[in-house]
Formats: sequence, structure tokens, C-alpha cells
Amino acid sequence: MTALALRAPERADTIVRVRDVEIGGPRIVVIAGPCAVESEEQAFASARAARDGGARILRGGAFKPRTSPYSFQGLKGDGLPILARAGAATRLPVVTEVMDARQLALVAEHADMLQVGSRNMQNFSLLEEIGRCRTPVLFKRGMSATLDEYLLAAEYILKGGNSQVVLCERGIRTFEQSTRNTMDLNAVPMLKRRTHLPVLVDPSHGTGLSWMVPRLACAAIAAGADGLLVEVHCDPPHAWCDGEQSLSPDQFRQMMREVAAVAVAVGRGEP
Ligand code: PEP
Ligand code: MN
Repeated sequence: MTALALRAPERADTIVRVRDVEIGGPRIVVIAGPCAVESEEQAFASARAARDGGARILRGGAFKPRTSPYSFQGLKGDGLPILARAGAATRLPVVTEVMDARQLALVAEHADMLQVGSRNMQNFSLLEEIGRCRTPVLFKRGMSATLDEYLLAAEYILKGGNSQVVLCERGIRTFEQSTRNTMDLNAVPMLKRRTHLPVLVDPSHGTGLSWMVPRLACAAIAAGADGLLVEVHCDPPHAWCDGEQSLSPDQFRQMMREVAAVAVAVGRGEP
């Protein structure tokens, strides 16, 4: 089975450092921002909403893995500097997805953390390339991946020498159709037991419904997650991507108050 990803008596919990933000320590970390970078205005307004609500890392997709090739594919290379500027303006480190090894150098130039999306969890050539770089990685669980498969995939990155891997449960495919995915919160205590890597939860993709996100965010922290990945958009009804699961600035602020209460209750302190 896996080796480097697994807990061992001599191995301390991994703390992943994204600039000055520590993921996997006592304090939970919330990553927030829009699904996709759409424009300078949208990215800056969404970044301010993320920062003002209490997020400590900004997210935003430039290269978007879309189910349909006719859907908006992201601003691609043009989106990266916009996200970087929005991060600089709000003093937040930024995370964005890399879909292909050929984009890695370009994405790493603009990002403080690389996201590997669900659809690429077993893109082993990409994982091997990411293993060779030293940028921290937000590594999402495949939508139909078992936890064994997930940890073995993380092993590809660790084996290459990149130890800065953060896991992220983002919902799995089940027979249930009323939500986009089924949040597998079982995964949180199970992963925390089996691996020393930090574990985040993404209730936005896990539910697909903005009104459910705050409840599942609280549940994730109660289950022992080290933080959250949440989609926040300055104007969700007009979002080009995933608007129905994105929180407005007000909804995000309210969610953070609720999450803070749960974090304190479970001994993690204010996020
Ligand atoms: C995302 O975070 O925008 C995303 C595409 O997520 P996932 O890979 O989990 O579907
Ligand atoms: Mn999305």
C-alpha cells in the first residue's frame, strides 16, 4: 500500500505552508473565491468578499475542466495574472487549477498553490510533474475514487519529492440525484486517521446548492476537517460557472460566523 502518505508513529502531522498561511495546524483555514476568473472587476470584487468574510487564501479557476466542450472554458492564460493581481490587492495567496502538465510552468508562475481537480486525480503524468515542483498542492478527490485510490494517487506527488499536499473531499457520485454530489464526510475522520496530510472539505461542489453550503461547512469542521474550500462570487446569479452553488458576499460572511462558532466548539479556535 501507500507509504509516504500514511501516518506513522515517527511522522508528525504535515503542515502545508502557502506563503504565510499554515494548513493542517490548530487553526482552520478557509479558501474562498469564484469558480472561475471572469474579468478584473469580478475577480477583485469576489476577492474582497473572500477577504472581508475571513478567507485566508483566494481561489479562482483560469483553466476550467468543463463537462461540455461548449461551456465557458475559463480565461486560461489570461485569467492567471488577473487572479494574481486580485490576490495581491487583497494580500491573499492564490490557488488555481492546473489541468495539464504542459500548463504547469505557466500556472506555477502565477499561483502560490496548485489545484489538481477531481477529474485529474488519476492523471499520473500530471501528478509526477507536480511531484517534481515545490509549490504546495490542493489535491481534490476523484468523484468516484475510493480512499485507497485517493491516497495512492497522492503518493505519486509525494514520491516525486513534493511533500506539500493538502487533500480535499469534494463529494462523490452516488445514486442520489437531488444534490450535485454526495458529501462523503466519512472521508474526513477516515483520512485524518490514515494520513498525516491536511484534509479540507469543499461543500460547494459537494452539494451544488448554495443554501446547503453553510450547513455542510459546519458539519465538515465538526467532523475534523482542517478547513474549507468554498465558492464565493460577487454576483452569483450572473456567474459564468457554478453560480447556483456560489455564496454571495453576505452569505459568505454569515457562513463564516457559523463556522467560527463550530470551530471554537471543537477546540480549533477562530478561523
Ligand atoms: C473547482 O474547484 O472549481 C472544481 C472544478 O472542482 P472539482 O475538480 O472538485 O470538480
Ligand atoms: Mn466550480
